[in-house]
Amino acid sequence: LMQLSIPLNFIGFIYREIRQALTDIEQMFDLLGVKPEVTDGEGAHDLVVKEGTISFDNVHFAYDPERPILKGISFEVPAGKTVAIVGPSGAGKSTISRLLFRFYDIQSGSIRIDGKDIRDVTQESLRASIGMVPQDTVLFNDTILYNVRYGRMSATEEEVTRAAELAQIKDFILRLPDGFRTMVGERGLKLSGGEKQRVAIARTILKAPPILMLDEATSALDTQTEQEIQAALDLVSRDRTTLVIAHRLSTVIGADEIIVLKEGEIAERGRHADLLAAGGLYAQMWDRQREATEAEETLRRAREED
Ligand code: ATP
Repeated sequence: LMQLSIPLNFIGFIYREIRQALTDIEQMFDLLGVKPEVTDGEGAHDLVVKEGTISFDNVHFAYDPERPILKGISFEVPAGKTVAIVGPSGAGKSTISRLLFRFYDIQSGSIRIDGKDIRDVTQESLRASIGMVPQDTVLFNDTILYNVRYGRMSATEEEVTRAAELAQIKDFILRLPDGFRTMVGERGLKLSGGEKQRVAIARTILKAPPILMLDEATSALDTQTEQEIQAALDLVSRDRTTLVIAHRLSTVIGADEIIVLKEGEIAERGRHADLLAAGGLYAQMWDRQREATEAEETLRRAREED
């Protein structure tokens, strides 16, 4: 019986590993709302990121041939720098992040990392090089410890705690009934959008990828939470090539370059102060967002006084 139970256990182990891997991939695609359509090219080799420079060169892309989404986009994120993409809803911001992960192939132009076309490398190595802090993080029905450690399964408990601290979520976790052993996810404690985002940041700190992709939450966060998340993000993105898909303009003030996308084209580009001074689309978006934030704050204060 012993002779049989060892292979059976092993099969069980392999089965669980495969199932988990499939769940992860499915969840990732679910999350991004895409189906896998892209396959590794023949002779694709692993991407080795040395500097971490990203470049988009005259990228044209359409999900459906009738409707072009990106119409000749060129920009570079130099190694260690931060570039933010802003623009009205539907402009094509999230599409840029999907293309960097090569969830779709572009129709013309090129996307390169350290000069290497992403179509010439394995998807696995490409995706392993990019840390993603998505809009909405999927939590596993497991402990919060597991959920943070997911960034790097070999991390020690000490490293997990340190990552949680850097992501500004440790104190919150320690106040939970079972601390790091608290069950979260659909069947456990539900976390707010801002808390989930900080779990994602902690995961990314553990993963320590050379390139970082942030897709900011569209949902309004209160000022305090926003500041905490911003502090955590500043920490992870420091000295790391970072592409931010920004919805809240307050997070792009410090970016090395801001690209203003409009209907699939770059309408304006530059640093925050220059774009404000130019008085164009960015300046308008900034004014509108400031008014909205002020209105929200006034409302909140009125509610607090009641
Ligand atoms: P938002 O700020 O609202 O998130 P966005 O600038 O990120 O918008 P994208 O998500 O990149 O915009 O979408 C750009 C355009 O592409 C939209 O018109 C959208 O309808 C379309 N689109 C997005 N995903 C798909 C898809 N999987 N298939 C077909 N069209 C899509």
